[in-house]
Parts: sequence; C-alpha cells; structure tokens
Amino acid sequence: MPENIITATYLVAAILFIFSLGGLSSNKSARRGILYGMFGMALAVSATVLNNDVTNYLMIAITVAIGSLLGLILAARVQMVQMPQLVAILHSLVGLAAVLIGFTNHMDAGSHFIGTEKTIHDIEVYLSIYIGALTFSGSIIAFGKLSALLNGRPLLLPGRHFLNILMLISVVVLGWLFVDSNTPEAALTALYIMTAVGLIFGIHMVIAIGGADMPVVISMLNSYSGWAAAATGFMLSNDLLIIVGALVGSSGAILSYIICKAMNRNFISVIAGGFGVTKAPISGDPSPQAEVISIDVIGAATLLNQAKKVMIVPGYGMAVAQAQHAVSGITQLLMSKGVNIRFGIHPVAGRMPGHMNVLLAEAKIPYDAVFEMDEINDDFPNIDVTIVIGANDTVNPSALDEPDSPIAGMPVLKVWQSKTTIVLKRGMAAGYSGVENPLFTKDNTRMLFGDAKTSMDELLVAL
Ligand code: NDP
Repeated sequence: MPENIITATYLVAAILFIFSLGGLSSNKSARRGILYGMFGMALAVSATVLNNDVTNYLMIAITVAIGSLLGLILAARVQMVQMPQLVAILHSLVGLAAVLIGFTNHMDAGSHFIGTEKTIHDIEVYLSIYIGALTFSGSIIAFGKLSALLNGRPLLLPGRHFLNILMLISVVVLGWLFVDSNTPEAALTALYIMTAVGLIFGIHMVIAIGGADMPVVISMLNSYSGWAAAATGFMLSNDLLIIVGALVGSSGAILSYIICKAMNRNFISVIAGGFGVTKAPISGDPSPQAEVISIDVIGAATLLNQAKKVMIVPGYGMAVAQAQHAVSGITQLLMSKGVNIRFGIHPVAGRMPGHMNVLLAEAKIPYDAVFEMDEINDDFPNIDVTIVIGANDTVNPSALDEPDSPIAGMPVLKVWQSKTTIVLKRGMAAGYSGVENPLFTKDNTRMLFGDAKTSMDELLVAL
C-alpha cells in the first residue's frame, strides 16, 4: 500500500479513536464509542499489516489468529467482577510489548542512525523499555491484588522513599551510560540492568499502595501503558502509535487526577505509597458493646412499603451477587407505587471506575434515577429508607469521624443520616480496605444478612 494512503488511514483511525473516547464519556453514547474504537482499530491494524515493510504474511496471519482467539476466549469467559483484573493483565501486556520491541529495535542490525539522530533514538528505546518494564511488573502486582492472590494491605519496606530515589538516580545514570556507550555489550548491559530496576520499581510502587487507593493505581497503570505505547511509537516512527499512546496516557492521567480528587487524596502521596496504612491499632472498630440489629425480608418489605423516599447505594457486593436485575425489579415496582427512588453512586464503588453505572445500565435502571455522590450526599436526612447493597468502604463513617483511619479523609455516602438504613451483605466481613465499619452497629441500621441477589429476589416477592 502506498505510504501516503497508510498515513491517511492512520489519520482516520486516530480521529475514530478520539470519537471513541468522546463516546465513552456517557452511558448513552458508550456503545457508539466502542464501535468507533473497533472500526478505528481494524483500520489501524490493516494499514500496519499492508505496510511495504511487511513481507511475511503467513507469520502475521498466525499471530493475529492466536491473539484474536485468546482475546475471544478471555472476553467470553470473563465475569463482570473479574473485569478489573483483566484490564490490569492487559496493561501488563502493553508494558511487555514495549520492552520486547525496545530490545528488538536496539539489536536490529539494519538500524542506521548516526550522530544526534542516534542519541534521540537511543533515548526513545531507553524510555520505552523503562516505562514498559515498570508498567509490566506493576500491572502484574495490581492483578494479584485485585484477584485476591496477593494481600491487599500495603507492604511498606523500611526506607522506601530512599529506595525509590536511589532507583530513579540509577535509571538516569544507566541512561547516560547507555547513550554514551562505546561498545554494543556495554549498551546492552546498561539496558539489562535498567530493565531489572524498572521491574523492581513497578513492583515496589504498587505493593506499597493500600486497598482503598487501588483505583488510583489502576488508572495510573492505564496511563503508563499509554506512555509506553507513545514511546514505542517514537522509536518506530509510527505516528498512529504516538497519537494513540498519548490519548491513553493523558486520559489515564486525567482519570487518576479525578479519582484522587474524588477520594480526597494527593496523587504524589498515593504513588509514593503509604496510604491505606493503619496508624491507630484498629481504626473504626465498632465498640465491643455495640450490637448489630438484623432484619428479615418481611421486615425490610414492611419498611419499604411505608417509605416515600428511598435511596439505593450499590457496591462491590452487588457486582459479586449479580443482583442488579433483582434491584431493577424492585425499583420498577416501587416507582409504580409512586415512591421516589434514586441511586447514589460513589466514584470508586466496585472495582473499576464506572463499575456500578455499567451494572445499573445493563439492568435498564433509568439514567435519570442514578446520581453521583456529590449530587445526592446532602439528601440523606430526607430519605426514609436507604438500601446499601454490598457497599462497605464507600459508606464507612470512620472515613469522616476517625482521623487515624486508613481511609480518613475519603468522602463517603452519608447513608447513616437517613431514617433507616438497611445493609445487605453476607456477614460482618470488612470491605476492600480491610477497615471495620461502624455503620453496621448504628441504632438506625438494620442488617439483612445473605447473598444480595437471594435477598433482593425474596424482597421483590415479599413486596
Ligand atoms: P467493598 O469492597 O468495600 O465491600 C464490598 C462488600 O460486599 C463486602 O464487605 C462484602 O461483605 C459484600 N459482599 C460480597 N459479596 C457479596 C454478596 N454476594 N452478597 C452480598 N454482599 C456481598 O465495596 P465498595 O464498593 O463499598 O468499595 C469499593 C472498594 O474497592 C473501595 O475501597 C475502593 O477504593 C476499592 N477499589 C475500587 C476500585 C474502583 O476503581 N472502583 C478499584 C480497586 C479497588 P460480606 O463478605 O460480609 O458479604
């Protein structure tokens, strides 16, 4: 395919990717956004494969077939609750690709850069491998934490800030040695050591972050994977990869900023690690005398039948139980009886940004009944019954009342201010951050124990 047609196709693909991101900004246009993205990616891959440099079509066909098959199997098998870990592992693949392409490109005997061009190219290779390495190892640790293979609590090594600074300095020095090296062996040695440092840096960075701050890590790794792709684009002189990498990198960075703001966290402090560490012995622990008041389905139905204003606050447990369709049934029934029923969504409820919105949209809950935390948090004193479905950290009052709590300062939904709060969960387990929740022992809280879907199904029948 002629070079100018490939460039034009890349341009169209880049525009489609921008439309795709725009479409993903709201539930209503998300489907269209995904179609733009798919079409853009099909164009991008076709133009790349039809590049004059590509000759071995059999190899391309085999690798595309293997990749597509693996992708199809993964996408078909993955449960909605496993989506965050799937995203994490996919980020790790972007990082790994950047490392492998960086090494291949550096070792390419056909490379003819000299003088300043060679220096610039070497820096591109170096950055691509470094960002790729830390994205790869960091994403693997994030995968481990999200899939509960690793403990969610932060692991803080003594002198961790010193270690981070030492690693950063060594990366700069190794970079200088790499660019300035006189022999291929010296250059490769510097690259190998830097890759090891990058891998350790990624592990160290993510392992030091506590459970409740994981959303920031996920969006940050998303951003890193974009920058790794952009650096690879510079290295390969591929404009589309540069544009797409920059889109992913900057949108991930903006998302990290938004999540940090929503959680009242400082971005640098989260990255440096240390949030999610308990300063008090057991922060937010309910007092030993405090008693839990449980309620059964009939009791919950009676309260709902008397209520005029109801708020539903979903969390990760609703995703695990797949209770959204039962929730939808109850919503429709109460709405048909004239009850004012709304949903309050915390920005980090669930295990990925927008997790609850996706589930509620899937269950066809009307968009205009779904509100962001900031829009409805002052309304709770006017609410007759709040139903908390599998939410825990995002409704934990100790975030506001306990300065020593690991989640102190994080804005939460003030569900305890409503007249009665019914909490659906299976037992007394803590949320993702591992912090106990005093909400469960408040006077106006009623615990409806059991799997959220079973309870909601029974509640619908009782209503
Ligand atoms: P939590 O993770 O704090 O709590 C979920 C609760 O659901 C648990 O306490 C559990 O209690 C209950 N549960 C689990 N399964 C069921 C079931 N089948 N039926 C009923 N209840 C169930 O949820 P939140 O949504 O409130 O908070 C999200 C947490 O995850 C925050 O700490 C957030 O920072 C973190 N996080 C968020 C990400 C994001 O991007 N949104 C990404 C990574 C982490 P029990 O076992 O007793 O039933």
